[in-house]
Amino acid sequence: MSAAPAAVPSGKWGPRRKMMLVLAPAVLSQYTLDVLAAGPGVWTFVIRLVWALSIVISALLLDEHSAPSVRLYTAFQSTVASLSFITLVLVTGATGSVYFNFFPCLPLVLCLVYPQDSTSATLSGALCGAGAAGLLWVEGRPVSQALLWAGVVVTVTIIGAYGASEFRKAQRAENEGRLERARREVLETLAISERRRAHSEKLATIGQLAASVMHEINNPVAFIGANLDFLEREVLSEPRVSREELAEVFRETRAGIERVRQIIGDLRGFSRMDAEEPTECALADVVNDAARIARLRLQHVARLEVDIPADLPPVLAVRGRLAQVLLNLLVNAGDALEARGLDGSEVRILGGREGSRVVLRVEDNGPGFPPHVLPRLFETFFTTKGPEKGTGLGLALSREMVEQFGGSLVAENREEGGARLRLEFPVGGALSKRSPGPGRPCDAARP
Ligand code: ADP
Repeated sequence: MSAAPAAVPSGKWGPRRKMMLVLAPAVLSQYTLDVLAAGPGVWTFVIRLVWALSIVISALLLDEHSAPSVRLYTAFQSTVASLSFITLVLVTGATGSVYFNFFPCLPLVLCLVYPQDSTSATLSGALCGAGAAGLLWVEGRPVSQALLWAGVVVTVTIIGAYGASEFRKAQRAENEGRLERARREVLETLAISERRRAHSEKLATIGQLAASVMHEINNPVAFIGANLDFLEREVLSEPRVSREELAEVFRETRAGIERVRQIIGDLRGFSRMDAEEPTECALADVVNDAARIARLRLQHVARLEVDIPADLPPVLAVRGRLAQVLLNLLVNAGDALEARGLDGSEVRILGGREGSRVVLRVEDNGPGFPPHVLPRLFETFFTTKGPEKGTGLGLALSREMVEQFGGSLVAENREEGGARLRLEFPVGGALSKRSPGPGRPCDAARP
């Protein structure tokens, strides 16, 4: 019966060595039984001593981290134990010894002591069977009696080894179950922390947009206030304005409120946790989601041009996450163009198909990536914006997300100057192993 390599726990004194060190004095102390069985005797003591010493030596030399070493020393142990026992039976009265009846027990005991490996029990069974039959044969007993004893020892050994192998199987199944549970827990924790990381980066992006959002909301709120003052004045005093003028004021005020509502809606939608299921997404919709919010930042910095062909095949992705990637890239472009001023500054999002890939390019005509920055762009926490403004997570997380959808994200400098981020996706979508599940047709528009 072959033994599976045992899972060996770490640490210098593992359970096997500790058990051996307990066994050694136990074997020696049983000399008291020898005295009761056959009276005091030097030979019985010497046999016990040799047996106990062999256990101690095995414990000291054994390398618990090496399965072959464990197998070698347990085999050595069972051989010494069986030979010691046979000699003990011989010196305490051979077939008349009280120990003779215990021949079938030794292999069984070894099955209990070393359940991870049946070799020791098998060896001991063979030696004890031969020992019992040999002693009977030497005393001239009938061959049938010798064979009967050998048969009993072998049968008991087989039953013991079978029990040990079943024990091993059960233990292996339990270990595998435990490992699988642990693996699943780790994966779940990982998925949760990935979601949290993506979410905090999303909030950081919104934080970066805060100034633009305040400016954008401030405008309509200012003229809503002015209009209300005007209305209050005109309505409470003698009206001097025409009905048309009043209607215009109402229309303007409603438009202002609508604008504020729209901005808040966009931001709220964007900061929500995403549905995790990838869907078939039209890139034009995703680009729209991102561009609506990015305009808050870009409108005072650059002109945003979007060119996505209507017949561009959909990609398999989580729409909100892809929009987050694009928003990261657009906010970065806005930051890069800030110093240059609005005049002539441009950000473009261009879509196209190249063979079996759908390609999206986000490019600007800013300063581009300096040579020392380019190789470090996708490093986590790499930022040139300083701790107040940059997190250094945008590009790293964006690449991670794009790769989850089977795509790629690379950065390069444009020949005509400026930066270009190139996203590629397989047509029809091929999710990477880390992606959260199969796709279904894109339905609800988000955010
Ligand atoms: P953060 O925006 O927080 O700095 P990112 O990972 O998004 O983190 O960007 C890392 C760095 O890449 C930025 O600090 C900036 O130096 C550079 N970078 C990103 N986009 C552009 C761009 N369009 N033009 C020039 N540099 C850029």
